[in-house]
Amino acid sequence: MKIGIPRALFFYHYYPLWESFFKALGQEVVLSNPTNKQILKKGVEVTVDDACLPVKLFHGHVMDLAHKADTIFIPRIISIEPGEYICPKFLGLPDMIKYNLPDLPPVIDIKLDLYNKKSRILEHFFEIGKNLNKTRWEVLKAYIVACKSFSSYKNYIRKHRITPYEILTQKNFKCIKKQTEPGFTVLLLGHPYNLYDNFISMDLITKLRKINAKIITYEMINEKNIVQGTKKLTKDMFWTLGKNILGCAYYFLENKKIDGIIHVASFGCGPDSLIGELLEHRVMREYKVPFLYLTLDEHSGEAGFDTRLEAFLDILEGRKVSESNISAHG
Ligand code: SF4
Repeated sequence: MKIGIPRALFFYHYYPLWESFFKALGQEVVLSNPTNKQILKKGVEVTVDDACLPVKLFHGHVMDLAHKADTIFIPRIISIEPGEYICPKFLGLPDMIKYNLPDLPPVIDIKLDLYNKKSRILEHFFEIGKNLNKTRWEVLKAYIVACKSFSSYKNYIRKHRITPYEILTQKNFKCIKKQTEPGFTVLLLGHPYNLYDNFISMDLITKLRKINAKIITYEMINEKNIVQGTKKLTKDMFWTLGKNILGCAYYFLENKKIDGIIHVASFGCGPDSLIGELLEHRVMREYKVPFLYLTLDEHSGEAGFDTRLEAFLDILEGRKVSESNISAHG
């Protein structure tokens, strides 16, 4: 059976796990094309105006798969860490898709809720296997294979400090290898589906690599460092992606030398506006590290994006040559 996986949202986190799992069960995995103008346009057309860009884009990717796959995998993600949630848009995503796109192939929309226990993930995979008429034993074996491959993928990111985008696309590898003396160390923060979708992030990672920047993202550090970073928060962050972003920011600001921070956010995203506010107004003023906040929506233009990025890089350059009191705001 051809299982379609939209190249959007949690694809940028879970793809190696999902791909290995389905393949170990003897299924063929089909991906939507990398984001392009057409995919974005289609997604925007079928989605309500006030949906965020990543959700609109997800619709476009599902449409791109409609005639390529026998079934489309859209898990109903509620929680991926005990005691934490992710954005409620993920919970309603399979319903939103089925309502907005009624002529799709069948959708596999199994719930993933690890709020009470991490080990519940196995139940999630058993349910997926049931949909594919697989026995529990077959599912268990496939799950073990998938976990191994997911764990090597995560370790590779940490060890080589390569972004998920670069692993998933095999892009920039040569450029990173040649990087003996990085120019700036830039902490790149944001949701994986904003940062690693090359089209909507306007090739940000490659642009930074071209100026020889060393890029740090939260996938490159250990969970314990993120937790250590979150100790600086006055309240527990119960939202996983926000916790990762803030924990990583505080960890680096407190323990490591970074030249600047770029936070990429979606226009109209409630969680992003809260995180952006905390980062920009509390953390940056306290630590005096140059900060660039980039918001993305379907109307974002590359010229404006590049101008802001260049101005920010000029600030980093200026600070490098002189330790004068240049504004910490990009
Ligand atoms: S966290 Fe923000 S960008 Fe992500 S799905 Fe929710 S509203 Fe959209």
